[in-house]
Amino acid sequence: MTHFEDVRWLDFVRGVMPEENRTALQNHLRSECKPCGSTVRLFEKVYTTAQTEGASQVPEAVEHLATAIFAQYNRKSLPPLRRMLAKLIFDSFHQPLPAGMRSYGNITRQALYDAGDYSVDLRMEQERGSVSPVLVGQVASRTDPSQEMAYLPVVLMSGRQIVSRTATNGFGEFQMEFRSKNSLRVCVPMEKTGEQIEVNLKDWLTVKC
Ligand SMILES: [Zn+2]
Repeated sequence: MTHFEDVRWLDFVRGVMPEENRTALQNHLRSECKPCGSTVRLFEKVYTTAQTEGASQVPEAVEHLATAIFAQYNRKSLPPLRRMLAKLIFDSFHQPLPAGMRSYGNITRQALYDAGDYSVDLRMEQERGSVSPVLVGQVASRTDPSQEMAYLPVVLMSGRQIVSRTATNGFGEFQMEFRSKNSLRVCVPMEKTGEQIEVNLKDWLTVKC
């Protein structure tokens, strides 16, 4: 299947696309393409937020989010990022929560990963009656807790396919909904340091919660 580029979806969502071009994109959405569908939902969220915050000023968080999304889009010409594969160091499925680790209401499962100088805290939540689980996480620097992990792109991949994408907020936290897939991994590209955190969820997700 041929997908449409992010900039085209952005025009589509903003309603600044000629009607004759819209049809092709509309038909593509009707074919229930998941990656494009999630792109459109994200752009709609960003666009709606920007609208309600007042047309004269784009909120800082929205601006950062948009920049993070487009940083990836423009990556093609840049040198490849150094991949840092994360190591699972804690999994709530196998052991009780250690003292000091927060626990959450509708938690399904929680895990902590190390990747180079960074740590990634992940938890999988599933609301009663909801089909899609929600992956909630936080990226932090282990060596320098003051290091900014804000507004980084976060991409959920299955093989070469993008399943879902978002960006971290001002505290390095992120959240995304997705349909279960095989060989999922969470990628956090960091242009500033030339590194990319990669968390393979294979071992974590294959065990049934
Ligand atoms: Zn598509």
